[in-house]
Amino acid sequence: MRAGGSDPIREAARLLAGRRNAVALTGAGISVESGIPSFRGAQGMWAKYDPMEYATLHAFMRNPRKVWEMLSEMVSVCGFAAPNAAHKGLAALEERGVVRAVITQNVDGLHQAAGSRRVIEYHGNLDELLCVYCWKRYPTRLRWTPGTVPLCDCGEILKPNVVLFGEPIPWLAQEQAEEEARTCGVLVVIGTSAQVSPACDIPRIAKESGAAVVEINPEETSLSGHVTDIHLRGSASEVLQRMLGALST
Ligand SMILES: [Zn+2]
Repeated sequence: MRAGGSDPIREAARLLAGRRNAVALTGAGISVESGIPSFRGAQGMWAKYDPMEYATLHAFMRNPRKVWEMLSEMVSVCGFAAPNAAHKGLAALEERGVVRAVITQNVDGLHQAAGSRRVIEYHGNLDELLCVYCWKRYPTRLRWTPGTVPLCDCGEILKPNVVLFGEPIPWLAQEQAEEEARTCGVLVVIGTSAQVSPACDIPRIAKESGAAVVEINPEETSLSGHVTDIHLRGSASEVLQRMLGALST
């Protein structure tokens, strides 16, 4: 928030409306209100499952059935979740021509469910299963049921098409994300402190390329203060709904 008394939400809305080429970078915080706890929080997956034991490519290759204990829970939680007002608000901003793309670190598919059309999935998506032996792909809903381990036609155990620790970011998503960061007028960072490499490069690339950075996070992050130009504190849904209201007036 800047000193000087002006309403930061109106200031951010003016910036978005003026430049009309904003890109959003989202993380776990935007899906918390949809009932998906942040991985790293007290209720998160990593409090229950040690990610080094359950979420690395090495662990999957060694013991995929064990890794599926964690994956089953993740797929179930995300499968029951519905987009919240923040996902819908971002889709509305795209519809109005204010936001042109969403780069997300989430694997829950909720941006697409809310109606966002240009979504760059940095860490893949749980909706698809992939065979790491023959590279065949399947829709998760057609191949997996709770309590089972999904198998490929070749007989191997399928992996969700998400980036596990130790795996590279899909090159196309990385290229597209960096291109969006280089060419956007405003980067809106929502529900992430963008600390995990290489997603942490996106705000820096945008800033160095001349974009303004608007941050929507309830707390201070490592971006606040030096990379962030306007910090809007609060829940993503509340702030985005107020932003839509400000854009309408
Ligand atoms: Zn296969």
